[in-house]
Amino acid sequence: MDYLQIASQYKEPSIKGRYIHLDTILPILERLRLHIEITYIEKSVQGRNIHQVQIGMGKIKILMWSQMHVNESTTTKGLFDFFNFLSSDSDLAKQIKDKYTLLFIPMLNPDGAFLYTRENATAIDLNRDALDRTQPETQLLYTVYNEFKPDYCYNLHDQRTIFGTTDFDLPATISFLSPAYNVAREYNEIRLKAIYVINRMNAVLQNYIPNQIGRFDDSYNINCSGDYFTSQNTPTILIEAGHFKNDYERDRVRNYIFIALLCSLDAACENVIVDKELTNYLNISQNNKCFYDFIFKNVKIIENNEEKIINFAAQYDEELYEGHIRFVAKIVKINDLNNFKGHVEYDCENGLYFSNGLHFPNIGDHANFTINNLIEINNGLIII
Ligand SMILES: [Zn+2]
Repeated sequence: MDYLQIASQYKEPSIKGRYIHLDTILPILERLRLHIEITYIEKSVQGRNIHQVQIGMGKIKILMWSQMHVNESTTTKGLFDFFNFLSSDSDLAKQIKDKYTLLFIPMLNPDGAFLYTRENATAIDLNRDALDRTQPETQLLYTVYNEFKPDYCYNLHDQRTIFGTTDFDLPATISFLSPAYNVAREYNEIRLKAIYVINRMNAVLQNYIPNQIGRFDDSYNINCSGDYFTSQNTPTILIEAGHFKNDYERDRVRNYIFIALLCSLDAACENVIVDKELTNYLNISQNNKCFYDFIFKNVKIIENNEEKIINFAAQYDEELYEGHIRFVAKIVKINDLNNFKGHVEYDCENGLYFSNGLHFPNIGDHANFTINNLIEINNGLIII
């Protein structure tokens, strides 16, 4: 089956880029309401509606939520593509709706979505609020969980561009985790059920993004929702959308989220891997913090009248600016970059650095400079 073709076919055209908030999704929800059951179930701290989408009448119940961290919008785009697919009359969509009851909360944190922050309006990280449940958004998630009693949970996030796959030096475009249920990080039947689903997703995705799939660290924190739900005996799958070369808007990566969701529910993918579930899971490359957006190599600087050759790295800050996300490249590390790669790398061939009257960079500076007064780098990129 050509999953990528299906992802393209059902891509929701009215939602793209990184700044996805309630006003972006409301018109689509209105349109989808003709085909699927959509309710708003609770209000956020600032009184915005949190929506719930229910599809299917099957026995197996799955609860999925996205934008708990709201600058992490790729999985919301993937969900809306998936809603288009599920509301179509394709045979596969019908099979899935017969087998599963799917409950989605496609934007758990609508206040933060406007502000483009990780946290909610009271500056609380909702993924560290599982046990205390101090916030209405977290309380809502747990009320839905308790009433719906899902057989599985999918906890949908984005990860930063710093993550790559160990041994491959490639970006971790999609990463998975079956969260731990105890400090010892033991594997039990509940985790193995999540692992089985992850292995199915991984087996298919490797065809599209070989060696760009990562496995997240399973350090235990009961205040993280995935760890909490696993400890409550619900297999939970953490999915992180990551970087694909040049896809900072993540409109390509959303396809892989769609594929992960679809193949996890497609009966045709069952038993792709029949044994050695844990071994196969542990064979997924570990997520590794090994990337910067830019690395500049062999740069001559003059500091305290001394000439030196250095390497330095720059990373994009994401800033909300006039209704869209602006990527601003800033210098974040000087030297000690042996174990790092840049999504973009430049060999400056011992050319002399110059910026703002100085021949050396400082941490926090914008990546705007010249080399030998000849090559101009603006916002991390060479201007030709
Ligand atoms: Zn997150």
